Amino acid sequence: MASVKIKDKVFNLSIPEETIIGQVKRVAAEINRDLADSNPIFLCVLNGAFMFAGDLMKHVNIPSEISFVKLSSYSGTESTGRVKQLIGLSDTLRGRTVVIVEDIVDTGLTMLRLLDLIREHEPKEVRICSLLVKPDKLKVDLHIDYVAMEIPNEFIVGYGLDYDGQGRNLPAIYTVE
Ligand code: 5GP
Repeated sequence: MASVKIKDKVFNLSIPEETIIGQVKRVAAEINRDLADSNPIFLCVLNGAFMFAGDLMKHVNIPSEISFVKLSSYSGTESTGRVKQLIGLSDTLRGRTVVIVEDIVDTGLTMLRLLDLIREHEPKEVRICSLLVKPDKLKVDLHIDYVAMEIPNEFIVGYGLDYDGQGRNLPAIYTVE
């Protein structure tokens, strides 16, 4: 599909499925090389990272576990407004090597919050693995250990990422027209 219409917007194909899978395999190989003796626990951040995590884990061949978490916003009572909380974590992270599996790092603020929340569980080490990074928009100092692809500062959908709830099921990545 060269383009797709979701609600009021048209999106054009920007990264085909084969390209994505090739980069996902490369990232898996890097993780296999780096973490072979670490028994890492992968934390897939729902909803956006579900497809990436599924494909990535097919090519991770070292002893490891996967768990699924979600960031939920709730309206705080303080003037700071909405605060993100981590939900769904049932495994203990204490002393473990944790690999955060995210869909996209944009400004990086979400990832910073995630790092804070995960570090409260006293892991041995936290690594970041993101399908996509928009380097031009990154506004915090963040070391991203594994990146499948860097993209320009444009809104995209597909391969887990949505526009207004739709488009997550698309096997490729599309950019808004
Ligand atoms: P950040 O906190 O890094 O600015 O934003 C990260 C979150 O914003 C991602 O997890 C994702 O949910 C959302 N996001 C950022 N850029 C895009 C985009 O181009 N498309 C979609 N669908 N979501 C995005």
